[in-house]
Amino acid sequence: MELFGRYDLHLHTNSSDGSLSPRETVRAAADAGLEGIAVTDHDTVNGLGEAMEAGREFGISVVPGVEISSDGGSAEIHILGFLFNAEDPAMADVLRRCRACRSSRIEAMVDKLRACGYGIEYSRVVELSGGQGSMGRPHVADALVEMGYVGDRRAAFDELLSPGRPGYIPRDKPLPTEAISVIRGAGGIAVLAHPGLDGMGSQTAELAKSGLQGLEVYHTVHTSSQEQDYLRLAQELGLLVTGGSDSHGPGKKGGAEMGDRTVGRAELERLVSVRTALSGQYPCVGIFA
Ligand code: AMP
Ligand code: ZN
Ligand code: FE
Ligand code: FE
Repeated sequence: MELFGRYDLHLHTNSSDGSLSPRETVRAAADAGLEGIAVTDHDTVNGLGEAMEAGREFGISVVPGVEISSDGGSAEIHILGFLFNAEDPAMADVLRRCRACRSSRIEAMVDKLRACGYGIEYSRVVELSGGQGSMGRPHVADALVEMGYVGDRRAAFDELLSPGRPGYIPRDKPLPTEAISVIRGAGGIAVLAHPGLDGMGSQTAELAKSGLQGLEVYHTVHTSSQEQDYLRLAQELGLLVTGGSDSHGPGKKGGAEMGDRTVGRAELERLVSVRTALSGQYPCVGIFA
């Protein structure tokens, strides 16, 4: 990791399942002394406008991002997108379909849990998700915690919400190649998220042949020896290197804190220069504060 510049390129806000608003996230990043962040909410770009405006207000770089959950067969594979045109209609369409699948799946999970005696309300889960549409199992977990059925999000996943547990229902997702091509079609850079988590890195080499451009080498679930291995793999496959904490804000998801993983300014400059070479300058000034 480079010492110059601290950029956390993987963060969630309450536009998906984080606890802070986009503006609060940017303010917290500035307070933590970070020079820049990427906001990478699940299947939505709704928080990016507010986040980028807050970047100007608090004087740090805010990189537009997204994290698309895709169906990798044996494993769910998360694809990060950076520096895409957030107004791209094809991308907006894919994200809208992802969110529609999220909502119908969560409604079915609530029905299943209610049939098992867990008296949570779908309307409350919608409220807990902030009503912006990118709902997920974490919001069901929050409803279960609120009603006292489980102690925290983790216990909710372990006991009720993971595959094989009574409340689980799978969700329709795009293929990894579809996620990559829609990000690239919008002028963005497509990066495989946390390859060390739950087998998500099992198809890295194939995906690199199918247009994947980067690997999230640095992530809070990776050990330092994994990070060395992934750095070598990225070099072998000619992939860009990114990293971030995957923080969901204070008190959420295992407690990864903003800034727990960062990359240097050089890594971000490489993303920007590849983006510029392939698709032209990002259509909005102010990536670097
Ligand atoms: P979903 O997108 O609805 O399938 O929910 C997946 C999200 O739940 C992930 O992106 C994480 O943010 C969160 N998550 C997954 N596993 C756990 C866990 N064991 N404990 C807490 N949060 C989790
Ligand atoms: Zn999440
Ligand atoms: Fe992820
Ligand atoms: Fe994430």
